[in-house]
Amino acid sequence: MEAIKSKNVAAFNYLANIPKEKWTLAHDDGWRRGIMTTNMSECINSVLKGARRLPITAIMELTLQRCVQYFIQRRGRSQKMMEKNQPWTDFACEKFEKWSRKSIEHRVVQFDQRDQMASVATGSRPGSQHHIQVVKISTRDCTCGKTTIFGIPCSHVICASKWFRLDPAHLVQPWYALSEYVNTYDGRFYPVHDEQYWDEPAFQLQHNPVRRERIRVGRDCTTHIRNEMDQSSNQQRRGRYM
Ligand SMILES: [Zn+2]
Repeated sequence: MEAIKSKNVAAFNYLANIPKEKWTLAHDDGWRRGIMTTNMSECINSVLKGARRLPITAIMELTLQRCVQYFIQRRGRSQKMMEKNQPWTDFACEKFEKWSRKSIEHRVVQFDQRDQMASVATGSRPGSQHHIQVVKISTRDCTCGKTTIFGIPCSHVICASKWFRLDPAHLVQPWYALSEYVNTYDGRFYPVHDEQYWDEPAFQLQHNPVRRERIRVGRDCTTHIRNEMDQSSNQQRRGRYM
């Protein structure tokens, strides 16, 4: 907060009035609100991009088509992962393997057997940075924060769990299990029949000409609140044409 204050007092005053657990990963007790809300809505938005401002029937059709394609692609991906007989999704496997390799370079310098707490020193390789991280296996916690954020044991937790003769694979959160991924995309979609086969609706649609009138001259203003994700996509787009 002091670093923010030194750069921008107005920003500091604004943030000081908002509870820290609402906007920082370090203080949200592992709920990951930003990742689970803002990023999730951006993911859905990116899938459905281009479906805005179209007639309602076109929006419905495009939304259905995109969702069907999304599910088909992921069912194909889950099939490939099952053929490799891996326990978790590619994302979790890659992270676990990368951090397992890294854990070999660490050293457990202190430990508490009862709480399965350890102090893990990094940087045994010449030229690498030396840090000490405190790990508590019973609560799947490490001061580096990666285990809480990702739900996958970081290199320090892997190193410490081996010290306590525990299998670090058991510390990967169950939602990364391949069976969960397969179940998520197991839903089926069915084609929509042509309009002539539809049932007669029990109501009558009424056209409201007032709603279609153009109230202002010129382009409509967007109500979209721009954030850092818009900025990064703009930068990418600029980079493409440079
Ligand atoms: Zn760690």
